[in-house]
Amino acid sequence: MGSEAGSRSSLTKPFDPEEFRKHAHRMVDFIADYHRDIENFPVQSQVEPGYLQKLLPENAPDEPESLDDILADVQSKIVPGVTHWQSPNFYGYYPSNGSTAGFLGEMLSGGFNIIGFSWITSPAATELEIIVMDWLGKLLKLPNEFLSSGKGGGVIQGTASEAVLVVMLAARKRAVEKLTKEQGISEFEALAKLVAYTSDQAHSCVNKASQIAGISIENLRLIPTDVSTNYAMSSKVLANTLANDVKAGLVPFFLCGVIGSTSSAAVDPLSELGDLAQEYGMWFHVDGAYAGNACICPEFRPYLNGVEKADSFDMNPHKWLLTNFDCSTLWVKNPSLLVDALSTNPVFLRNKQSDNNLVVDYKDWQIPLGRRFRSLKLWMVLRMYGSNGLRSYITNHCNLAKHFEELLRTDSRFEVVAPRVFSLVCFRLKSPANDADNSCSLSAKLVDALNSDGNILITNTVLGGRYTIRFTVGASRTELRHVDAAWKVIQQLASKLLKECSS
Ligand SMILES: *Cc1c(COP(=O)(O)O)cnc(C)c1O
Repeated sequence: MGSEAGSRSSLTKPFDPEEFRKHAHRMVDFIADYHRDIENFPVQSQVEPGYLQKLLPENAPDEPESLDDILADVQSKIVPGVTHWQSPNFYGYYPSNGSTAGFLGEMLSGGFNIIGFSWITSPAATELEIIVMDWLGKLLKLPNEFLSSGKGGGVIQGTASEAVLVVMLAARKRAVEKLTKEQGISEFEALAKLVAYTSDQAHSCVNKASQIAGISIENLRLIPTDVSTNYAMSSKVLANTLANDVKAGLVPFFLCGVIGSTSSAAVDPLSELGDLAQEYGMWFHVDGAYAGNACICPEFRPYLNGVEKADSFDMNPHKWLLTNFDCSTLWVKNPSLLVDALSTNPVFLRNKQSDNNLVVDYKDWQIPLGRRFRSLKLWMVLRMYGSNGLRSYITNHCNLAKHFEELLRTDSRFEVVAPRVFSLVCFRLKSPANDADNSCSLSAKLVDALNSDGNILITNTVLGGRYTIRFTVGASRTELRHVDAAWKVIQQLASKLLKECSS
């Protein structure tokens, strides 16, 4: 075996067990050091667009290179262009959770490297997914109809965006079939009548799903929200819109409610929405990408009340349940509607178990054919932290966010602009008296200053037409001392900005 002579690689045989052991150990050390040192880097990468092109060669190497050389490049050229989502000082967007258990599961999944599209292609992959989806469904106290024991079932999608797309496609198929049968119109004519509903606070993935599903933009209703309902959808406004649409000969077919909206973590009145969905025969999907996770805690579970009236519910353990990206858990009451919309059975994939309907073939519950063994990481997370560990993880973040909110309220230069329910705090810097119309740019300047300073990362949104700063506690390693330090930096930079603005 040639050792690292010159720039020659020490990798000679793909997945040779002993080579793998040696290199994988080195990689684990590299990753462990990265996490040890993560607070030394600016949280938000400070590079300029195109920086990497200048640092890397124009072509792939002709000859193998060594892991040493590559890791040296990772350290000097890649790390500066990384924004450190796993930093305890990351408060932007919603978090991307990671953990030792989640990483180990990811590693194992990569180690097996199977493609589990049908049961036969790796029975453990399908069966473990069914089991962990039932486990997690029970932690959320989802009604039995969503579990495999109750005719429903769960499936792990890559993202909440894929989840809303697949359920919208199932809803579309059902609605188009019904219309063509009842009204004797073509599929094309039927499709043009379908209307989807969500609020103006829903994630842009609902809009994207509509576009992909061929729902015209004129037939996607973004129900307006405002501060009077804390940016939750009003079922009254929705009811009026539905009545008008039906009067105009349109056909409501899909409603997406949200628990924990992306801007401000608003919670729609799920139960009232569920009643309207039933009345109009719409598919009712609940998007809980971030806040759904909190509902494993008894104190937050009431926010999910009404989910029993939904057809589907989705949340992202990769956002807030210690599971490395990607892992989006989707439960549906009637999986056969997914299969109706998405199944294909080419001859080259046929097998005895599938033909006899003895098994679940997850390829028919998702967009792609191929699928990863994602259930391993969720299973490892559930086992290595236990439901009590996961609950206290969530509760701790919410307590830290509450603490941050209390700090904000001690400083009259700031205002909290939406009630905090979970671990997101929305606030802004008030404008000083001599600067009545400039609060918008002051808060924006504060976010820019904080992110280029590099101590913390935060992001912004617009609520009620006004620029709003979002502070989400949700990185896996954030502790009280980090939140206190973040508050200090925010106060310092705010003082500096206010001084500049008044001078
Ligand atoms: C983050 C988020 C999404 C999108 O998540 P992906 O998994 O990246 O598609 C959808 N809905 C809500 C409410 C979100 O917060």
